[in-house]
Amino acid sequence: MKEVKLYINGQWKETVSGEIKEDNNPSDNSVYAKVHMAGEQEVEEALQAAYEASEMWKNTPATTREKILLKAADWMEDNIQEVADVLMGESGSARKKAFFEAGFAIDIFRAAAGECRRVFGEVQHQNPGEMSIIHHLPLGVVAGIAPFNFPIVLALKKVAFAIAAGNTFVLKPASATPVSGAIIAKALEAGGLPAGVFNLVPGSGSTVGNKLIEDKRTAMVAFTGSTGVGRDIAEKAAPLFKKYTLELGGKSPMILLKDFDVDQAVKIAGFGAFFHQGQICMCNSRIIVEEAIYDEFCEKLTAYAKKLKIGSAYEEDTDIGPLIDIKQCDFIDKQIQNALDKGARLMTGGKHEGNYYEPTVLADVTNDMDIFFDESFGPVTSVIKAKDAEEALKICNDNKYGLSSALLTNDISKAMELSLRMEAGMVHINGATVNDNSTVAFGGVKDSGVGREGGQYSIEEFTEKKWITVQYKPFELPF
Ligand code: NAP
Ligand code: MG
Repeated sequence: MKEVKLYINGQWKETVSGEIKEDNNPSDNSVYAKVHMAGEQEVEEALQAAYEASEMWKNTPATTREKILLKAADWMEDNIQEVADVLMGESGSARKKAFFEAGFAIDIFRAAAGECRRVFGEVQHQNPGEMSIIHHLPLGVVAGIAPFNFPIVLALKKVAFAIAAGNTFVLKPASATPVSGAIIAKALEAGGLPAGVFNLVPGSGSTVGNKLIEDKRTAMVAFTGSTGVGRDIAEKAAPLFKKYTLELGGKSPMILLKDFDVDQAVKIAGFGAFFHQGQICMCNSRIIVEEAIYDEFCEKLTAYAKKLKIGSAYEEDTDIGPLIDIKQCDFIDKQIQNALDKGARLMTGGKHEGNYYEPTVLADVTNDMDIFFDESFGPVTSVIKAKDAEEALKICNDNKYGLSSALLTNDISKAMELSLRMEAGMVHINGATVNDNSTVAFGGVKDSGVGREGGQYSIEEFTEKKWITVQYKPFELPF
């Protein structure tokens, strides 16, 4: 069995003040690893190490930072099997998802390496004889808090771009996926990252998370997770005037108009709803379909869901692996029951064995049901009937979330107009709600969060502007 330690100031350390936690394997509920958890003392050491490394790291040449990130990417590529094993083992990522995530992580390292030389400022000449220089400078210590569902990618989107911009970092991975954090540490260590620039402190949200947010040495908190925890973090960080980015929950809608090919729509919707068992913030959990093709779509999506193969994360042909834990299945059961009591139709699914939940399609969902508004974070999607495109838009926007969305139509004029009126940070025309890459502006509006992640947009978040003037000609003063 694996034993995973804390990574602080360039050293792998055993816990002193924390506990040793058994990391669960969701596929069979065996113990995947024993993990040293951080307590107050380790968080203190990690913050101090990051703080002390700050000056050195921000003065390290961009080309050196670039080289380290590229070497970390190479290590991950050379060890992709180990990376995927961790994802299958501790997060229940089916093989296809595990390798997809590992490949994406390698790409993030390389995209971040590419940003190192592109942290540019601006020069302005607004007044004669005066030059303004706008520097884009690193913030100092960034604390990152990551979720369990894409544990390497969602942590790395913070870590890689923050250190590319010259910040140092302390990462708290989700308690369910601490080894994924250790993989990032191993890659950076192999890349030759100097001690203290990256530190890993697995531990509970309440103790480790709180200390990271509230400590004076932390300049910014970069968080991905649920809207409730995101709100808590904002409430703690705002009075301390800290910067934060919050990538939060979603109830991502797909609008399907009647001119679009139904078979293609089923494939797009099915992938968007069921990839990684629906445990993705941008999962397509509300499908709003124009009346004329509603019945045909419901039937075909049901047939698609019935064909998906449920199984252990390790099996070659598994489409639907286990949910992270059984508590999530109980939550989904209740949500489905609430919808059925209020008149929804269960087309398929609605049951689970242990933490394996069947892909589920609910039809005739309306906005008096909990499932219309609340995340399921499981393989459950709701189909909703709309009389026309305008009504579909109204249903789409009737939600507190605004993360991803999709719009399926061949009418490009309508697509352009509707996409601008859909209340979401991201709209995919004729694509799936689940879509991401290393350089785009990923993020949401409304209760889905604050800030954007990816490429230059991450660099923007992880830097602070400083205005410096130079008076190069004598100038008049008023008195
Ligand atoms: P979560 O329960 O909010 O946990 C996320 C992280 O926050 C974990 O590391 C957790 O630690 C930590 N945490 C919990 N309470 C905390 C506190 N009081 N202070 C500081 N940190 C705290 O979310 P999750 O269940 O891991 O992930 C699922 C959620 O994330 C869904 O809502 C999903 O939509 C959202 N998500 C959003 C995006 C996006 O990009 N917008 C992407 C993926 C997921 P512990 O594990 O120790 O509790
Ligand atoms: Mg686990």
